[in-house]
Amino acid sequence: MNYHQYYSVDVVNGPGTRCTLFVSGCIHQCKGCYNKSTWRTDSGMPFTQEMEDKIIQDLQDTRIRRQGLSLSGGDPLHPVNLSAILQLVKRVKAICPSKDIWLWTGYQFAELTADQHKVVSLINVLIDGKFVQELYDPSLLWRGSSNQIIHKLR
Ligand code: SF4
Repeated sequence: MNYHQYYSVDVVNGPGTRCTLFVSGCIHQCKGCYNKSTWRTDSGMPFTQEMEDKIIQDLQDTRIRRQGLSLSGGDPLHPVNLSAILQLVKRVKAICPSKDIWLWTGYQFAELTADQHKVVSLINVLIDGKFVQELYDPSLLWRGSSNQIIHKLR
């Protein structure tokens, strides 16, 4: 898996203070996408063991308490990303069980594959669906267009 950006302290992408990772790779090609540079799976930088370790350390940092981890992109549920994302969310749940995990995907919940569900079964909130420019609404919280649904899973 490659990634584009990591914010160790973020107050924009999800509730509270969070760690946020923007991964590479997206097949959805939404018109008006704000993040086209992430579409190619080989764009950005390799997501290394060191980066995974850093995220875990940041989530455990008691000086700035993080509510949780946000995973966005690109698409964290792109098939190429699934094994690395599954490993990351499993580790967060095992080591930092009090932290919530939010994940943004262009896939719709109803069309997820069994492998994508392995990730979704471990996260707290899934925001699904493509960005639809005609349904863009800047007043929406945590999503760009009104077709996207915030699934509070657990
Ligand atoms: S799902 Fe997100 S990153 Fe992918 S094309 Fe749509 S808006 Fe862009």
